[in-house]
Amino acid sequence: MGDIRYPLSFNQYTAKTKWTLRQAIEGCARHGVTGIAPWRDKLAECGVKTAAKLIRDAGLKVSGLCRGGMFPAADAAGRKAAIEDNLRALEEAVGIDARCLVLVCGGLPVGSKDIAGARQMVKDGIAAILPHARAAGMPLAIEPLHPMYAADRNCINTMAQANDICDELGEGVGIAVDVYHLWWDPDLKAEIERAAKTDPRRIQAYHICDWHYDTKDRLLDRGMMGDGVIDLPLIRKWVEDAGYEGYAEVEILSSRWWDADPDDVMRLCIERHRTVC
Ligand code: ZN
Repeated sequence: MGDIRYPLSFNQYTAKTKWTLRQAIEGCARHGVTGIAPWRDKLAECGVKTAAKLIRDAGLKVSGLCRGGMFPAADAAGRKAAIEDNLRALEEAVGIDARCLVLVCGGLPVGSKDIAGARQMVKDGIAAILPHARAAGMPLAIEPLHPMYAADRNCINTMAQANDICDELGEGVGIAVDVYHLWWDPDLKAEIERAAKTDPRRIQAYHICDWHYDTKDRLLDRGMMGDGVIDLPLIRKWVEDAGYEGYAEVEILSSRWWDADPDDVMRLCIERHRTVC
């Protein structure tokens, strides 16, 4: 493997069930991991101010806050509520000095078959919060999800779609490249290059894990880096060539790893990050 250019950040859902945010922060400090990515439910439990202090005192940087988004809704009131929730997420991201607010944009409103309409709602939702994000100096990072989540989680499924939205909305909107969601895309390299060419800061986050060859569960069977089929050094090279400067954020949603001792999981993440990423 080449040199590992990106420092490791620990997405706290890698230890979702066993660690609070405070414990995840302490875990990072204990193992020499310098980045963390909290989720909003855990952040709310801890309190934004307390979390900010703990993170600062531990010398950690926040590679991203998970997550805003979920814009589409069946009616105008629902869409307005989503925008208001995203504005709160922005404040929280600012409160912990996150590098970006990650957006999982949302899927179809219940009962809808109009995916084009849902995609328009996503664009409108991002456009609605963008002035606030710009004013706060908080980049938004659209995270395209694997197409298997198009119905219920995110109708933005490729880097090309995310690039299109960024092109249209301009400054302040970027992309979170998650290898789990994007590794299969034949246009991934070209779209990473496109992102870099348009705006060297467009790639706001880089998430790593692995895709099991015979993946068993749509949500909770993400692999430890090296245990699956993703050519991690290759994709890392692409984001590196695109000028990305940030963390490699390990994000493993997995019932198997959630059952393990989080300290062991973190040790293995560190080792795999060094040897196979
Ligand atoms: Zn991710």
